[in-house]
Amino acid sequence: MRRVCVFCGSKAGGRAEYAGCARRLGQALVERGLELVFGAGHVGLMGVLADAVLAAGGRAVGVIPQALVDLELAHRGLTELHVVQTMHQRKALMADLSDGFVALPGGFGTGDELFEVLTWAQLGLHARPIGLVNVVGYFDALLAWLDHCVREDFVRPAHRQLLLQASGPEELLETMLRYRPSAGEEKWIEPADR
Ligand code: AMP
Repeated sequence: MRRVCVFCGSKAGGRAEYAGCARRLGQALVERGLELVFGAGHVGLMGVLADAVLAAGGRAVGVIPQALVDLELAHRGLTELHVVQTMHQRKALMADLSDGFVALPGGFGTGDELFEVLTWAQLGLHARPIGLVNVVGYFDALLAWLDHCVREDFVRPAHRQLLLQASGPEELLETMLRYRPSAGEEKWIEPADR
């Protein structure tokens, strides 16, 4: 893993622990020689994260659609800034540039980005590690819903395990660095599913 894509809130959330977690993740990336790829916003947890990476002497690569640049939401101090035309192009380029994916607390955008890379992993389109930092239990309800999906037979247990988790950013990065995709993954589509 060389570059880690982080999805996180364009808001900082209602608890100081969320920004603290983004700051720790930024430092933990740099300590491990990992580069940040992210949505290039200077707002919310995204801004905190990118500032932490840059302050620690690391590299922060942003990918942002022109419309958000026009709204002056782009971080202007990044190592690299890729400006694309659409949100779909942004997600595709962020994925292409990255060797692993992390979600921190966030809202709809964070959820959209996380579930897209999980779905692509489920389909076997990539085998890179995906994890979330469940800081102060922010994702407890989401993780409970994923387990419900398995119990109700909408998600296979092997696919549920594609989502790694940890309560802190350092522990998650260590888990991701050790990650080896399981050989002979079940095929996503079998005749019985059709
Ligand atoms: P949300 O979780 O809804 O705050 O959305 C955060 C995610 O959506 C980030 O990972 C970004 O890729 C994208 N995003 C949402 N709002 C912005 C913004 N104002 N500037 C840059 N990216 C944004």
